[in-house]
Order: sequence, then structure tokens, then C-alpha cells
Amino acid sequence: MTDDASVPISVGFISLGCAKNLVDSQTMAGNLVTANITLAAAPEDADVVIVNTCSFVEDAREESMEMILSACQLKQDGACRAVLVAGCLPQRYREQIQEALPDVDAFIGVDELDRVPEIVRELEAGKRHILEVSEQAERLFEPVVPVVFSGGANAYLKIAEGCNHQCAFCAIPGIRGRHRSRSLDQVVGEAESLLGQGFRELDIISQDIMSYGRDRQDDTSLPALLRRLGTLGGDFWVRLLYGYPSLVSDELLEVMAETPQVCHYLDVPIQHSHPDVLKGMRRGSTVPHVKKMVDRVRSVMPDATLRTTCLVGFPGETEEHFEHLLEFCQSVRFDHLGAFVYSPEENTPAYEMDAVPPLEVAEARYARLMEQQKTIVDENNKALLGETIDVLLETVEDDACNTWRGRSLRQAPEVDGTTFVEDVPDELGLGDFVSATYTATYDYDMRAVYTQEQ
Ligand code: SF4
Repeated sequence: MTDDASVPISVGFISLGCAKNLVDSQTMAGNLVTANITLAAAPEDADVVIVNTCSFVEDAREESMEMILSACQLKQDGACRAVLVAGCLPQRYREQIQEALPDVDAFIGVDELDRVPEIVRELEAGKRHILEVSEQAERLFEPVVPVVFSGGANAYLKIAEGCNHQCAFCAIPGIRGRHRSRSLDQVVGEAESLLGQGFRELDIISQDIMSYGRDRQDDTSLPALLRRLGTLGGDFWVRLLYGYPSLVSDELLEVMAETPQVCHYLDVPIQHSHPDVLKGMRRGSTVPHVKKMVDRVRSVMPDATLRTTCLVGFPGETEEHFEHLLEFCQSVRFDHLGAFVYSPEENTPAYEMDAVPPLEVAEARYARLMEQQKTIVDENNKALLGETIDVLLETVEDDACNTWRGRSLRQAPEVDGTTFVEDVPDELGLGDFVSATYTATYDYDMRAVYTQEQ
């Protein structure tokens, strides 16, 4: 083994968790490419496997551990030579992680993304037991070259890192640090580069996109960013994901309504509706806030699609509190709703709270909430039959029938289902926008027939 920079090395990624973590994997990949290190098509084909982990909740940690162990197995089988674990898991458990995972050769935290090429070369030279995890995450990375792992026509555009909110259940601020925003010029520059590579949908993400620019002493803000993106020209979509509901401003809604590239789509996690639970969660929004926000969104953009996320089984949540949430979601009729069951997380205020509903109670509430949402989605989707909508084509579903998998304006990547478009002309494909008319609904997916090219 050698640390000679001219020796070819390949690195394979296993990227877990949310889209924000995926962007970190892309940033590491860009740094590797710049340092003449090859990206392998699959972990089995790599000299070094990087597992970029998530540790948001218990399920995510379990998945991370499973994937780390399977990467270590690859090494044992001789398929790769070293395993590097990155991201939220080592950042959160820097004190214990080496002892817990002795077969892993290197750990890095979320502040060391630019050190990956150097560490990979050290691994290749035979160095082991590497632990490079800063005590407190505080850096902000710019992509050196754009590498996109989405596999479709969309790319995630991370505009900020960290979070200043203090939701009682959430470990993210402790892992990712204080909120810090990229500059408008850097974000717009990255957007231009992604559009230049052919990506047709830019998904704006951070822990809370509504806080974008609040930490800067200039005019940086989400509305200012959307205005700048609107001047880039061309046919593309901009979609807003992860926004703190009480920070949705009138200015933002006006810019969304008047900028043609911005999808009338908002993802605003409410977490709960009952005032007692919201107070316990230390959320800054109340039911009147959220109702007012939803009404404003729908009056400015009557065709708006709203997505939310709810948390069930929070300490102290009673049956009555949960019924309140059910009724609230029934009355708002969010177009898309995701939910998760509370997981007690060390070093969060909620960890010390008692009256945690038993897991089976929380899971039953989760199932009831999702069941109710399924009915709402069914009804909404059936009401759309016969309507024509824009769809972005992403992958061939059935070559023989010219059927493509795509997403409409109403569907964000990975979470909102798919629109299957039939009879797409041969000359159209990945990254093309088409008009399609809905013909059928399947659970969370829709079927449509091609009407015309946009
Ligand atoms: S807004 Fe709340 S839930 Fe979201 S990352 Fe910040 S602290 Fe966590």
C-alpha cells in the first residue's frame, strides 16, 4: 500500500438519511474527484467504502449500524480494503464510536468533508484507527465540482447548514451546529452549474429553509434567492423543502406566486397541533399560526400543494391530544403527510420528560394518522382524474409501451409518489417536461397519458 497520489484508488459510497446528508456525500465525492480519486459504481467495486450515516432517531441509527457492518463484511471478504464512516453518527458519538465499531478504519465528522481525499490516501497507505471529528460542527462547505447522486432529473441545493431552533425532541442542532447560510452568489452559482449540466429541478433544502440568510448581515433571504433563480431563465422547477411553518412570510408567498420556475409546493413540518404538545416540543408555532399560514398559502396560490410531517407519541401526548392532531389534519387536508414515532434522544430536553406513551400506543397512533391520510390522498387523487398537469420525466418504466416514470409539480422526489406517463413519444425522455392527463390512481402514485411536450 502507498500514499502516492498517482496510484489509482476507487471509492464507493453508501449514503444514508436525508437529502441534506446526500449533499454531504456529493461534496465528499466532488473532493475525491478533484484529487484524482475515482468513484466506484458500487461499494463492492471500491478500494475504500464510505458509509455516510444518519443518527436522527433510533431507526436511522440501526440502519446506519447495519450498513456499516455490511461494509465491514465486504472488507472481510476481500471486496474492499478499508471502511470510512462519516456523518452524523460519528459526529454525535465521537467519544464511543471507535470502541463500538472496531472494524471501521476511519471516522470523520460533518466538518471534515474536505479532508476525505487525504484520509482515503492514508487508508490506502495502511494507516488505521483514524478519528477526525470536531467537537462542535461549525463549517459550511461549497461544492468543488458538482457531483449529483439523485439518479433523476433533480438535484438538491443545500442553502444552509445547522439549526437555531430548539425543538425539544431533536438532536440535530447538537450534531450539525448553529444555523449558517451560504451566500446568495454561491447558491445561485451552483444552481447555474446544475442547470448547465441538464438538471431540471432544483430542490432547495436545509434544516429550515425559512431561516436562510437570517445569520448574515446582508440582504440574503429565501425570497431574494427565488428572485435571483427566476432571472436565470430557461425551463426548470424550483421546489421548497423543509420550512419552519411560522416563518412562512407574505413576501415569500408573493415571490413564489410570481416566479414561474417556482413550484407552488411547500413542505412545512407542523409536528403536532395540540397546544400542550407543541409547547412541550418547544415549537414556535401554534394552531392559529399554522391555520393562518395554510389559508394564506391557499389564497395566494389556489393550486398549492402542501406537505407536512407529524410526530406522534411525544412525552405527555394523550389520546385527546392525538385526536386533536387527527382532526386538525383532517380539516387542513394536507396533500402529502409523513409521520414518525417519537424516539427519546440523549442530550435533548425531551429525553428527560416522562409520560412517554408506550411504543405500541405510539405505533397505533402513527398507523391511524397514516390511514386517515391515505383516504385524503385517495380522494384528492380521484378528484384529479381527467386533469392535465406538467410532469418531469425521470426513468423509463416500460420501453415497449413508452411508459415513463416522472413526477408532477405536486410530487417531490422520493416522498410523494410517482406519475407514470404512457405513450411518451420516442424522442422525449429523461429531463423533459410533458403535459399529461391523469387516467388512474394507485395508492400514492398516479397514471397519466401523454398530451404534449412543454
Ligand atoms: S427545526 Fe426543529 S426539528 Fe427541524 S432540525 Fe431544527 S430543531 Fe430539529
